[in-house]
Amino acid sequence: MSCALVLAGHGSHISPHTAGLVWSHVDKLRAMGVADEVTAAFWKEMPSFHQVLRTLSATDITVVPIFTAQGYFTRMVIPAEMGLTGAITQQGEKIIRYARTLSEHPYLTQVTQQRVEAGLARAKVQGDQVAVVIIGHSTRRTPESRLAAEHQAQCIRQTGLAREVITVFLDDDPSIPEAFSLTTAPTLIVIPFFVAAGSHTTLDVPRQLGLDPEQCEAEVKGRQVFYLPPVGVDESLTEAILELAREAGAPLHRPRSGSNWDAFPAAGREPLMEAVRRTGTLDFGQLRLSAQAVTALEPESAAADQPPERLESAEALRQKVRQPDDHFRPLAVSADLPFGWRAECALPERLHALVETIYPGVVALWAEAQQGHFRPGSIESLSQRQTGIFRKLADLDQSQQMALVEGTCGACILHPSWFDGVVGQIPCPEPCNLWMSRALKQIEAEEK
Ligand code: SF4
Repeated sequence: MSCALVLAGHGSHISPHTAGLVWSHVDKLRAMGVADEVTAAFWKEMPSFHQVLRTLSATDITVVPIFTAQGYFTRMVIPAEMGLTGAITQQGEKIIRYARTLSEHPYLTQVTQQRVEAGLARAKVQGDQVAVVIIGHSTRRTPESRLAAEHQAQCIRQTGLAREVITVFLDDDPSIPEAFSLTTAPTLIVIPFFVAAGSHTTLDVPRQLGLDPEQCEAEVKGRQVFYLPPVGVDESLTEAILELAREAGAPLHRPRSGSNWDAFPAAGREPLMEAVRRTGTLDFGQLRLSAQAVTALEPESAAADQPPERLESAEALRQKVRQPDDHFRPLAVSADLPFGWRAECALPERLHALVETIYPGVVALWAEAQQGHFRPGSIESLSQRQTGIFRKLADLDQSQQMALVEGTCGACILHPSWFDGVVGQIPCPEPCNLWMSRALKQIEAEEK
């Protein structure tokens, strides 16, 4: 029986780091050879929670939610999007195992305590001069989403490391600025209880604390503030992910030393390689594929006087396409792929891994279209799955949808098959989160 591992994270339209952290663990797990296929899935980026399962050939799939709290996303969004009914879901011949979330693993408690100890060392003060402030996200919609941060605060209190220990929240009460009125100690050690160094931890939280972005030490309101890295940014997270997967019953392989070009999602791999063997070169979105290399198609106006930049590692290629010139491309399939680079196919299978790194989850859609079994979704079925603000998408009329399709999908390599039923070279099965977010903004603007 073949097995797959899916790391389910939030993703972001603003920061590359939120999903970037999850991809870094995907890379490590691929190189360890613990599963036949390893990939990520996101709410805000590609592949989406709803689409990821179609990219996998394995019959035993384990989904590990990379969230620091058991709450709205882990209890409602991921199960609704993936069609999960509990810890184990049978979908046709596939078993989907849904692991406990990261917040339920002792790993986070250990890291939180290490952060406090690191903060004390940096501040060079005794614990009786210190207040520890644990910042969670939480949301008023799901009261239990605050519990994980509060549990960590309780664990730190029991260690006796600090005079005061409190929790404040980005999207709940008490708010982050209240940390100053809720504590009296002259030194504040602030620990963001978040997975990644994304936009919340690098911009939103510092702003509310009175720090500049990137500032991790300052005097604010007469108090010395030490701002520590988020709890998810730690090497040992990979081990915690594996333990959660094993606990869910994942039939993982014994770790070995391999390559992070291995264990990519396999759906569509053989048809893609066969198409390139047959045709010699294949244009795929904004890529030109051959048995030797993958390059980006260059606009005719591009000056060809520079040799292409050679990209050899998965990390370098992902960095190039996600953050060209430090500009984040949140939609992997937007038609603004940077060009002027070349990635060699050192082995024949590398071709598929290169495409999947650039366009995560897209080879499966292309192959379904080629084989004539692609079935588009619809905005109606997408709206019905929504448990939050995106339910409003059901209110969009045809002309509003059309305007949004023209404005957003016109700059994308996928064809919006969910809208017009036309399959195209690479079909889009349903609105992506970027489209949904723009649609919601429009609905809310019209409501005002
Ligand atoms: S909804 Fe439109 S913009 Fe988004 S992935 Fe599909 S075709 Fe592209």
